[in-house]
Amino acid sequence: MLKYHIDKIPDLRLSEPMALDLSLSEAIAGAPGVFLVSETEAEFRAMKGRITGTLGREGTDVMVDVTVGYEVPLSCVRCLEAFVRKGEVGERTLFFHEKNATADELERYGKDGWVDLGPWVRELVLTDLPFYPLCDEACKGLCPECGENRNTGSCSCHPEG
Ligand SMILES: [Zn+2]
Ligand SMILES: [Zn+2]
Repeated sequence: MLKYHIDKIPDLRLSEPMALDLSLSEAIAGAPGVFLVSETEAEFRAMKGRITGTLGREGTDVMVDVTVGYEVPLSCVRCLEAFVRKGEVGERTLFFHEKNATADELERYGKDGWVDLGPWVRELVLTDLPFYPLCDEACKGLCPECGENRNTGSCSCHPEG
């Protein structure tokens, strides 16, 4: 889990931010889903990657700055083959105590003082994934007649090329 209590987050007016360096799957497994795609817990557990960055606060405003390197198994929409997409996404944001949060889009945390970065990191990775994943931009897809993967060879209905 990627939850930190406000009392344990260093105040930047007094000290340096804390360094984050975590395994992605451990950090976001079990985080509540916030993004409407066909995400499943198994998909998240299959992700590899690391979250690095810093966490600090000024008063009750929590500043997070992370880089997430990820490896996510996907299926190509053209040839249906599984492949692994490697990517990196960086983002910084502020989490506000709910009493100071004014607009709906602000990241916020509740009265209990626990700041949960999990759903936010999860969404960062998901929004970085392509809507139509391709194993390769030049993927030739499946033969519309016999269904063979045209990347791996020629079928009898479509000789070479
Ligand atoms: Zn493909
Ligand atoms: Zn064919």
